[in-house]
Amino acid sequence: MSISTVKEYDLAKWHSVASAVQPEVRLFIDGEYVDAIEGGRFETVNPATGEVTSAVAAGTAADVDRAVASAQRAYRSGTWARMSPRERMEVLYRLADLIDARSEELCVLETLDMGKPIADVTTVDLPAVIETFQYFAECIDKVESAVTATEYDVLHYTLRQPLGVVGAISPWNYPLLMAAWKVAPALAAGNSVILKPAEQSPLSCLRLAELFVDAGGPPGVFNVVNGMGETAGKALALHDDVAKITFTGSTEVGKLILTYAGQSNMKHVGLECGGKTPQIFMEDVPDMDGAVAAAFHGIFSNMGEVCNAGSRLLVDRSIHDAFVEQFIADGRDAYVPGNPLDPETNMGPLVTVEAQQRVLRYIEAGKQEGAHLEFGGGTPEGLEAGAYVNPTLFTGVENVMKIAREEIFGPVASVIPVNGVEEAIAVANDTVYGLAAGVWTSNLDTAHRLVREIEAGVIWVNCFDEGDMTQPFGGMKQSGNAKDKCFDSLLSYTELKSAWIRHG
Ligand code: NAD
Repeated sequence: MSISTVKEYDLAKWHSVASAVQPEVRLFIDGEYVDAIEGGRFETVNPATGEVTSAVAAGTAADVDRAVASAQRAYRSGTWARMSPRERMEVLYRLADLIDARSEELCVLETLDMGKPIADVTTVDLPAVIETFQYFAECIDKVESAVTATEYDVLHYTLRQPLGVVGAISPWNYPLLMAAWKVAPALAAGNSVILKPAEQSPLSCLRLAELFVDAGGPPGVFNVVNGMGETAGKALALHDDVAKITFTGSTEVGKLILTYAGQSNMKHVGLECGGKTPQIFMEDVPDMDGAVAAAFHGIFSNMGEVCNAGSRLLVDRSIHDAFVEQFIADGRDAYVPGNPLDPETNMGPLVTVEAQQRVLRYIEAGKQEGAHLEFGGGTPEGLEAGAYVNPTLFTGVENVMKIAREEIFGPVASVIPVNGVEEAIAVANDTVYGLAAGVWTSNLDTAHRLVREIEAGVIWVNCFDEGDMTQPFGGMKQSGNAKDKCFDSLLSYTELKSAWIRHG
């Protein structure tokens, strides 16, 4: 069932899809589903209800070894790496079509696994996953190398070759999409891939690997090993036959991945990590309605479980009171927690009860440190079985407070008053993170200055969280060292070789 069809489903239809779905739970290695060698399983829980959805094969180091061996064999055989660019493109285009055709199952698995509203999956996640595979398919035969200017009897050219076996470790907040941002460029470049999805959302990515084979991808080129981060993820990152780890997740684990690379084979490491995104609203904000809407959508959408969530709202004192008044008027009821299978719901539960409790602890810390709770701050009535948190707004926040410094990863907005551009820049940059920023001003000079001086990989001016596949997405500082999407992302999965040929 294609994405355009499933977008029209109502609640009853989604409930019947959810009760009929039979997710695959084994690992996918060498083109087939297999059980974990040690036979372990871990449970996935629907965070909206607390019910166990399935028991998934728990990969260990032994399964990672098996998957790496399969990926290495496939790579060396050349069935994928030496396939003509045009043929490789055709496989990825077919994969995009098959993902579309399997939309019904893939969408419902995202919602059952991590609680994301089904409307978000059908309008944001799945269309973006399809587009990601199409975009990187399009890029394949656009990779060029150079012949450089050398002395007369030398020909020097550069060559881009695949790296070999790439390990991809992905998070749960956009399970398929974050995996696609890694797997698609790595495959497009001709590598073999082993994906280790987050243990909170292991189900949808398994299908991706199966569909790759259905699309004509050779067995062994794309493998999925589910399991715990500290076992399967660590084994992958420590593996001597893995040429690169591409990672999206927390800064804490990103640092571990760097150490694993150092402890093993000095593999390439691409990191997309956490954030504490500032949105800066200057006194000459061009459109207060649009700016306030961007502020609450920027922190409440996807339950605030977004790496670039605009969690710090830096508001110039001259417009502070009007901004807060309008945020409360427009934002307090804009997101209503509910059943994520209902297409009318725009806020689901957090991913797990542990995540819910963590966010509630941050809210308590905010109160204790003296921030003013304007609304929210607890859990919604009638939804006690799920891991829900109400959309929450703090004002009077200072940038030294815990809620302003640490990544909460929940629907908690903090308004920090600032005086003018200088202070806005200083506060925006006073963080270990540097993923993204929003800037709202009518003054072109101010806009350019903020773009140059804010330490973040992505800056939006008079808009927030927009972009397309050409946009490099990734951070600076402790938000990471890599860029997803964009043509450069594909190049980051290649080795740049130099051939210096002396001739007569
Ligand atoms: P996480 O770091 O807990 O887990 C991410 C992945 O790493 C999971 O697959 C997990 O199993 C694995 N892992 C955990 N410990 C490991 C270890 N010791 N060795 C190897 N792998 C290990 O992050 P999460 O909770 O799944 O995701 C939320 C985080 O991801 C947030 O910090 C968010 O900001 C970040 N994120 C960043 C981006 C970006 O583009 N910068 C995008 C989405 C999410």
